[in-house]
Amino acid sequence: LARLRGRLARSGSPLGARLLAVLSRDHLTEDDWDELEETLLLADVGAGPTGELIDALRSRVRVEGVKDPAVVRAILRDQLIELVDPSLDRSLNTVPGLTDDGSRQVPAVVLVVGVNGTGKTTTVGKLARVLVAEGSTVVLGAADTFRAAAADQLTTWGSRVGVHTVRSDRDGADPAAVAFDAVRHGRETGADVVLVDTAGRLQNKAGLMDELGKIRRVITKEAPLTEVLLVLDATTGQNGLNQARVFAEVAGVTGIVLTKLDGTAKGGIVVAVQRELGVPVKLVGLGEGADDLAPFEPEDFVDGLLG
Ligand code: GDP
Repeated sequence: LARLRGRLARSGSPLGARLLAVLSRDHLTEDDWDELEETLLLADVGAGPTGELIDALRSRVRVEGVKDPAVVRAILRDQLIELVDPSLDRSLNTVPGLTDDGSRQVPAVVLVVGVNGTGKTTTVGKLARVLVAEGSTVVLGAADTFRAAAADQLTTWGSRVGVHTVRSDRDGADPAAVAFDAVRHGRETGADVVLVDTAGRLQNKAGLMDELGKIRRVITKEAPLTEVLLVLDATTGQNGLNQARVFAEVAGVTGIVLTKLDGTAKGGIVVAVQRELGVPVKLVGLGEGADDLAPFEPEDFVDGLLG
């Protein structure tokens, strides 16, 4: 993903440049190590992982007597990649199922959750485009009935991408009813995938749990819920992490979409969020456009971080 690397590098990030500056010194002083640590913390790698990383790096540098800054950098790169964990399965499950008697196809359902403003609706639109390009038939469900404009925004994405959007005519309609209608429509039309956009009000955990729980229940009556994607705004740092915890608890999240990576050097949140939730980052948002969604690739990501 040269594009990701380019964007991360161009995002005005002091991270890559700072790391490079520290790591290019002939001999790393105590101050340099502190600076390295601070740089990783500023990139939202998180206190725990940053501490482990620095300790491991220091001990390798000492034990192996590494002097060459390029080698130190290479070791840091390896360690970061390991932290991001290349062994995780990041594929999206969008494989349709079958009815109980095996006679007909039922669509795979992808539920998209997260706090409002993180980029849920945009992600649904972009994802629809990717799936359509791969030859899948897609239906969108506008179950964010809380925000009046959300259904319009999703419908606009639907027409742009050439897929049907199921929505309610009323504001404040029952989101589970819309999700149900969307999945039903997907079944009836033999669609491969139904993407369901939801509202993300976080004031009240019990309310969110009720709402998402009900949506899950009605969906799974009709078709397999194959993915629950949590959309996280990469620019929100630790706050985003707290939100992520709540959603992971209530929504059974299977993958994370990290949006707005084009606008931040704080991509280290990937490390923190995966470690915290035990759920892989599967996709990244790299802009507002229809083509700005990419699979998450650990090596490219780390190279982008390091600049
Ligand atoms: P929702 O409330 O979670 O559905 O969020 P929206 O999809 O409406 O997105 C909120 C804003 O973030 C919109 O202005 C989007 O264009 C913007 N946005 C979404 N994803 C990205 C991304 O990856 N990069 C950038 N720069 N902006 C994004």
